[in-house]
Amino acid sequence: MSLLLPWQQSQWQRLQESRQQGRLPHALLLTGPKGLGKGQFATLFAQSLLCQANNTDATPCGQCRHCQLFLAGSHPDISLISPLEGKKAIVVDQIRGLGQFMALKSQYGGHKLVVINPAEAMNINASNSLLKTLEEPSAETVLLLITHQPAQLSATIRSRCQEIRFGISETAENRAWLSQQLPVGADIDLLLSLAGGAPFRAIQLADEGLLEQRQTLFDGMGQLASIKLDPVILAGQLNKANPGWALLCLYFWVADMIRLTATKQTPVQLNSPDLRQPLLKLANQVSLVGLFKLQDRIRQAQQAFERNLNPALVMESVLMEWQNTFRIRKRKIA
Ligand SMILES: [Zn+2]
Repeated sequence: MSLLLPWQQSQWQRLQESRQQGRLPHALLLTGPKGLGKGQFATLFAQSLLCQANNTDATPCGQCRHCQLFLAGSHPDISLISPLEGKKAIVVDQIRGLGQFMALKSQYGGHKLVVINPAEAMNINASNSLLKTLEEPSAETVLLLITHQPAQLSATIRSRCQEIRFGISETAENRAWLSQQLPVGADIDLLLSLAGGAPFRAIQLADEGLLEQRQTLFDGMGQLASIKLDPVILAGQLNKANPGWALLCLYFWVADMIRLTATKQTPVQLNSPDLRQPLLKLANQVSLVGLFKLQDRIRQAQQAFERNLNPALVMESVLMEWQNTFRIRKRKIA
């Protein structure tokens, strides 16, 4: 059973207070960066609305008939909507199915709940169809929409939801929680830094061995810069591993090199504090203009990669740009 996470306490209290006062909105939009457990929060909140026990903090008991049905995935008063297996979008048929669910009375006379996650996955037709549902809310229904990209939702949908924001906060309590989830000896500072402070993202980085991949990539990029490695060979290896992560690492490194070059005197905060010295060494080989150009290329590559344009070509072109950036400068020095 999932638990309330330490950084979600205030959002939880706020919603439970609204509930006690009978002012719970019909539609909630849970927003904030990825990796904060918004989905977990939504299902826990949904369960708490169905639970028949009266825990003082309103957390669900996990024991009552409603909790048991919920945990078995067979509670009739909740509908969970996500892209179907193997698909990226939530399609209109899924939302139409929701209309039927909403039209029925609650089976147990309590709340009826709908969780849509991620909400930005709804395509235009699905989104329009949902709007009709939002216009005619039934008294007992609560819709929970989850997104880390609220700007991708239509303004009308957003305007009909009450937003509950989740943010990154680094407290001792959060770190203690995270350290329990990570293997002994894991570098919490580095993981959090690379994860942009989002705890679940940090766990994912550790679980998927992404720190090791990052080190291999950094070694490879050093060899590229000194023209000891063929970009095509490295691109092939990266595309087999995790190209999205490789591009993100490259982006962070170039951003760090720009910071190091632009602010030589003062200590500057980096995405990759562990690589400060080698990044500084690399940065000293190129001009600031070259670094900005390289950063643009990586950003374009990230966009192309998200649109599924030929990933092998995307990666090769970025690596060649990286190599050229360092090669040109070397010629100038010579
Ligand atoms: Zn219960």
